[in-house]
Amino acid sequence: MDGAPDLFRLSYRKIRSFLTCRKQYWFRYCSGIEPPPTAPSPAALVGIAVHRGMAVLTESGHEELGRRAIDAYLRMPDHTAVGPGTEGYELAHALFEAGIAAHRELGGRDARAEVGSWAPWRAGGITLWAKVDRVERTSQGGYRFIDWKTERQLRVEETDLQLDLAHVIVRTVLRIPASETVESVAWNLRTDERRVRALGRADAKAAMQYAAALAQRMRTCSEFPPTPGPACGWCEFRSLCEEASTDVGAWFEEADE
Ligand code: SF4
Repeated sequence: MDGAPDLFRLSYRKIRSFLTCRKQYWFRYCSGIEPPPTAPSPAALVGIAVHRGMAVLTESGHEELGRRAIDAYLRMPDHTAVGPGTEGYELAHALFEAGIAAHRELGGRDARAEVGSWAPWRAGGITLWAKVDRVERTSQGGYRFIDWKTERQLRVEETDLQLDLAHVIVRTVLRIPASETVESVAWNLRTDERRVRALGRADAKAAMQYAAALAQRMRTCSEFPPTPGPACGWCEFRSLCEEASTDVGAWFEEADE
C-alpha cells in the first residue's frame, strides 16, 4: 500500500505543526525551503537510541542485543554529546532497562517493531501515515500497540491525538475486525506513567474524520502567521524565523499612541 499520490497526505507531525504554528507548517510543507542543518539535541539522540534498542528487543526478544544496539548508537563519532561518560549515555541505558522491564511485563505474542503504513480514505480525500513503535497480540488474544515515550512527562492531549492516528494504522495493517477493540498504550519509560485506552472502529472513523476536516483547512489555508512559543525550541527553521526571538522590549522604546 502506498501513499496514494492523488490524496492529501497527513501525519501526526503535519497536523501538530498546523495546529501549533502556521509559519512552521508553511516552512515544512509549503515553502520548499530545506531547513538549515543542525545537530540533534542530546535529548533527541537519547530518544532515538532508546527506540532503536526497544525495536531490537521487540523483534528479537534478546535484552543484550538491545543493549548493544543502544551502545553502538551512542558511541558513534557524531554522537559524542551522549557518548560514554555523559549524562545522556547513562540516561539512555537507564531508560532501556526500564524498557526491558516493560517488555517482560507486557508478555505479548507476535510482537513487531516500527510498523509504519498508510491508511488511504478516498471519499475523505486523505491518506494518513503513522509508524507504531510496537504492535502485538495480548496473551488473551486481543490487539495492543505501544508508543514508547522518553520525555520528562507525558503530554496527555498530544499523546491521545498521536495514538488516535496510530490506531488507524494498526487497524489497517492488521485488518482488525470491527467488533474488536485495540488496547492503545503510551508508556513513559522515564516516569513509568502509562496512558491506556481501548479504541474501537468508531474511534478510528472519528480520527479519520477529524484528519479530513483538518486537511480541508490545510488545503485552503493562505495565511501562515507565526506562533512563537515552546515549539520554537525544537523548530528546525528557528534560525530562519525572526519571530523565534520575539521580545516585547521594543514596546518600551516606542511612544504609546
Ligand atoms: S521558530 Fe517558532 S514561530 Fe518560527 S516557525 Fe518555528 S515554531 Fe513558528
